[in-house]
Amino acid sequence: MKLFLSADIEGVAGVVSPLQGQPGNPEYERARQLMTEEVNAAIDGAFAAGASAVLVNDSHGPMTNLLPELLDARAELISGRPKPANMFCGLKEDYGGVFCLGYHAGAGGYGVLSHTTNSFAFHAVSLNGIACNEALLYGAYAGSLGVPVLLLSGCDRLAAECAPHFPSAQRVVVKQALGQRAARSVAPQRARQLLRSAAAAAIVGAGTVAPFVIPAPYHLVLDLTSVALADLAATIPVARRTAPRTIAFEASDMAAVIGWVNTVSALSALLR
Ligand SMILES: [Zn+2]
Repeated sequence: MKLFLSADIEGVAGVVSPLQGQPGNPEYERARQLMTEEVNAAIDGAFAAGASAVLVNDSHGPMTNLLPELLDARAELISGRPKPANMFCGLKEDYGGVFCLGYHAGAGGYGVLSHTTNSFAFHAVSLNGIACNEALLYGAYAGSLGVPVLLLSGCDRLAAECAPHFPSAQRVVVKQALGQRAARSVAPQRARQLLRSAAAAAIVGAGTVAPFVIPAPYHLVLDLTSVALADLAATIPVARRTAPRTIAFEASDMAAVIGWVNTVSALSALLR
């Protein structure tokens, strides 16, 4: 089976500070190496268990974090931005499953570096009444293509948020959140061992995992962090202002939902 792997950085073992996700400082250079090594561990476990191909999508910030020269030679890499479907760019119906590596809890929740897509823009994101972190949002996108999420890795709060919606996915906890910017983490070497074995188990059990589906039609609610940001988002003709800081969109497919989240996120740069 073909595996799609989306890689973020906030949920990587040893990462606790926003600086570790921001290019231009030494801590970022170390964190991106840790991120790449975790991705490699998951790739290795997936191939050991019979995966036929792995497509990796760099899903954090500039989306040029993973070090291509260190990537497992059997995988292919999508990097850069902007790109269609953003964190799940490249996913198609013929994939057998998705891994979400280095993910994190959603905006407004407990968890290491919790946010949803853009901490400057979003206070909360909900879809059809379900509070959505990135794993849920994109997991529902994958579900709309009939593809299940097989594995999630990050802090204990990510696992707790995802457990009710992805009950059969492997949930790899590499750190316990002690705050939004503090954690007790396993050693990176240990995290890679955990990921390798969970990846293998996820591939072996893939046939038993149901896709996560939020049924259409979609009612997307974006709670912005300021009234000014909501003023800005409200200039999108199909956006509906439902409260001073809240914008709603109606959509018939998950690609449009993902599109609106990322459109408002990109637009918010105007007010930074
Ligand atoms: Zn990120």
